Amino acid sequence: MNRKYIRRTSAFPALLLLLTAILLCGCADKSAASGAGAVAGDAAAPASGENAGENPAAAGPKIVATIFPEYDWTREILGDLAEESRPELLIDNGVDPHSFQPGVEDLAKIADCDLLIYVGGTSDAWVEKALAQTPREGRQVLRLMDLLGDRVREEETVEGMEPEDHEHEAHGEGDAHGEGGEDAETPEYDEHVWLSLKNAVLCCEAIGNKLAEMDPAHAENYRKNTESYKEKLQGLDKQYTETVSRSSNPVLLFGDRFPFRYLTEDYGILYYAAFPGCSAETEASFETVTFLAGKADELHLKYVLTIDGVNHRLAETIVENTADRSQQVLSLNSMQSVSRDDIQSGTGYLSVMEQNLEVLKKALDVQD
Ligand SMILES: [Zn+2]
Repeated sequence: MNRKYIRRTSAFPALLLLLTAILLCGCADKSAASGAGAVAGDAAAPASGENAGENPAAAGPKIVATIFPEYDWTREILGDLAEESRPELLIDNGVDPHSFQPGVEDLAKIADCDLLIYVGGTSDAWVEKALAQTPREGRQVLRLMDLLGDRVREEETVEGMEPEDHEHEAHGEGDAHGEGGEDAETPEYDEHVWLSLKNAVLCCEAIGNKLAEMDPAHAENYRKNTESYKEKLQGLDKQYTETVSRSSNPVLLFGDRFPFRYLTEDYGILYYAAFPGCSAETEASFETVTFLAGKADELHLKYVLTIDGVNHRLAETIVENTADRSQQVLSLNSMQSVSRDDIQSGTGYLSVMEQNLEVLKKALDVQD
């Protein structure tokens, strides 16, 4: 899905050199036993000595999450302890996670954390590298795609999608493409695993168990918080099931990239889309536009869907090419561009999935 992204990994060795230098300084600081010399402190966080000065152990494990859903789940499971524990979110400025490359501060956070949570898809090839380059004794990792096992799906190309351009992507810079061995024979797994509430439940259980294991003093808190959050996720999952069961025509048409395979599969929703997964392409061929416009007419769809992001031109072009031309464009939020500002104004995984349910009701013409 993301193989087409040109990964700018050429800066990696230079960053690592810089990181090594910073870490050497960091270690010297820490040997002074304050913990306040932590490297690359989050600019948004208060002075790092605030907690560390009194009782560093109270803060619990230092957790780094690569993307927003993992980060938000972790906060829910930490509950009140999140204040002290301060989990870090790496990709927090709305940047597309498929083209993210870590800066030196990101690497320093990984080097310094007790637990790293990441998805483990193609876009995360940099994570494995960063872990290898920043060894830390006792550091734990949670790779969501491992813990989800056979719930992880291969990316799917359905009728009408732009075919993936394998030729094009094979010509990136040497280093970037050695990492995944992503040749035509290698199955491409869909990494948008968080867009399934059922997967979210499993991920939260795993995060809760891991925290309990790492921080037994607070195990009971983690267990309680996990249970109550799981109930909310499962309640919402049930509402999705009910909504879809009330639709006479559960089909969605995306004039966009398509990261929602897990969500549509959970509830048996049929879909058409311009691109499989998160292809870097934003330009669709004439054939794709006419196919999707034809489907919208044939199925009497009132809405063409897009994902979060600003470019909805393709969806509009599809509408313009239907016979009807009256379809509205609706967006489902795939949480791939959640920013720190969004988080500060209260955006949570659950609230986004609740909003997505409202969009789905509209798109599937289900009345309250
Ligand atoms: Zn994506």
